[in-house]
Amino acid sequence: MPLRNIDSPRSSPRLFQAALLLSNLLLLGLLGLAGGPACLGSPGTEVEICDLETPCDDGSYCKHLLKGIHHCDAGSWRPLLEDKPVHLRGCTSSEVERYAPAIVEGQDLLQLSASLTLDCPAYTALSHRLARRFAYNNQSCGLVTFLEPDLVHLYCDEENNPEFDLTGTLWHELGHVYVSRLRSPLEFEVPSFNDVIGCTRVESEVGVIYRFTHENPVSLYGRTNCAEAYAEAVALFVEDPCEVAEEAPLQYAWLLTAEDSPFRGRQGCQIDLSTQLAY
Ligand SMILES: [Zn+2]
Repeated sequence: MPLRNIDSPRSSPRLFQAALLLSNLLLLGLLGLAGGPACLGSPGTEVEICDLETPCDDGSYCKHLLKGIHHCDAGSWRPLLEDKPVHLRGCTSSEVERYAPAIVEGQDLLQLSASLTLDCPAYTALSHRLARRFAYNNQSCGLVTFLEPDLVHLYCDEENNPEFDLTGTLWHELGHVYVSRLRSPLEFEVPSFNDVIGCTRVESEVGVIYRFTHENPVSLYGRTNCAEAYAEAVALFVEDPCEVAEEAPLQYAWLLTAEDSPFRGRQGCQIDLSTQLAY
């Protein structure tokens, strides 16, 4: 979730599944009646359409209808990810410049997906408005659903709230995407990860709560439930594996070695933490 400095939630798909199902059903109804949702993207800020034969300026991006986002490297257009198309819907050029490198950084989380579509905030009036209601309650800025497991919605308004950092939210949601492909679109938990942190669901007088008997989640939001603990660990690993190594050694070891981990066999923290001075 965006407000990293106060460690607020990065997302919570389960909480909003029912609401999103309703919104998507309503949206389908609107599509049938009106022929398509209103596009709220600001004119003039869209990424250019690719002409893949044309030389380009390094660092720039373009979007190809079928092949997805391309990045200019050494004067030529190359797909953002070599093995699968990445589509960004309704994203402004500044959003593309922010999210495209983050997608590349988090591509281990897409190894089970055939494609990715990232839905930037202003794509549809209906889902955006619904989502903003949650966002402004400071509950969530990202969403994936069982309806379309390779579609990630990011819906906080970064343009007008520069303190929002949705790259962490993006990696968190990609963690859910990985699990939905690993297990099923209706499952967000990874049992072997739950075992490592000792995540258990407990019925209490105040309702359902989650306990973590072996190791705490890496963020306050991760305490929401086992699936959010997993997604927060994954997001933090992409952002800073050394912080996971330092703060959550059991989760770090799981991320590097477990059969169900998207980062199995990858390089982790490159700093020898044992030589760090304690202050
Ligand atoms: Zn989540």
